[in-house]
Amino acid sequence: MTRATATLLLLAALLLAITLLPPREPEGPLIRTRLLMGTVVEIRIEDTESARYDAAVTAAFAEMAAIERRMSPHLPQSEISRIAAATGTVGLSADTAEVLQLAHDVAEASNGAFDATLGQLIRLWGFAEGEPRLPTEEEIAAALAGDGASRLMIADGRVAKVVAPLAIDLGGIAKGYAIDRAVSVLAAAGVRHASVNAGGDMRLLGDRSGRPWRVGIRHPRKSGDILATLQLAGKAVVTSGDYERVFELDGVRYHHILDPRTGYPARGCQAVTVVADRAALADAVATAVFVLGPGKGLALLESMPDLEGVIVAADGNVSVTPGLRGVLEWP
Ligand code: AMP
Ligand code: MG
Repeated sequence: MTRATATLLLLAALLLAITLLPPREPEGPLIRTRLLMGTVVEIRIEDTESARYDAAVTAAFAEMAAIERRMSPHLPQSEISRIAAATGTVGLSADTAEVLQLAHDVAEASNGAFDATLGQLIRLWGFAEGEPRLPTEEEIAAALAGDGASRLMIADGRVAKVVAPLAIDLGGIAKGYAIDRAVSVLAAAGVRHASVNAGGDMRLLGDRSGRPWRVGIRHPRKSGDILATLQLAGKAVVTSGDYERVFELDGVRYHHILDPRTGYPARGCQAVTVVADRAALADAVATAVFVLGPGKGLALLESMPDLEGVIVAADGNVSVTPGLRGVLEWP
């Protein structure tokens, strides 16, 4: 073997050794999903060494599951079911008391458009049970007569029922609250860049490791299409849409967001997306704005600090609060 050949062989061996070194794993986000609150919840951690937050993600899911157990009207042991069954005063967890208080505040701010005491009416329409039906006018009138915020008083973390029966439904707010609690659990564990996404309703923790998060708003009539994209950090984005739970009868669409004044599905909007710091507030306000319709709905968004939103009216007209104008991207 000549010296030149030996050098060449050595070089080749070195090169081989270099190329055979395993490539450094590019560290990806930690993404986990779980079925909760009737939807797919995805938690995504974008911090470096995201895998070390696996236990925090498990704890965040557990927190959401605990909230569902407390607030579901369909689980016999939930606090909401206990309120429905009781007369007089019911002791509440701090979580449920907080949600009922926020529901009360948004009901006042929206002139009753958001109403967490519509349980009888909501059950009558059957959307949550997966068997929606068109009730008779008499049934609707009877359900409305049995509902109403004046039946509920909240004091010192307790609920005082004024009149029985009282069917509470937190379907318009509890998912947002659960998202907030999951984010709190992640933040307490040291996570700084994450998203908690429950079927399109979400809250972001920080930015996406140096970049803004890009959140697509679904087109309410062209399924699969994006209406607009938001570039955000550290905010909640929650949508109420008439396409989520819906049935059609004799050419009329009936959906799950009900107008407490009529007992029928609210007719002013196709979809409302609200951006706020907290998902619970965004959730309740999105439902309220949907019921109020585009005119009064936009006024409500503009009257409350730190609330922004996009409203798609029943005729397809889109209105946007001033604070979102630089943040929205149209396709
Ligand atoms: P969302 O998708 O957040 O708008 O919530 C819709 C759910 O909230 C429905 O499925 C009902 O459980 C409940 N809901 C319907 N109408 C109202 C209303 N006017 N106020 C409060 N909750 C409502
Ligand atoms: Mg809502």
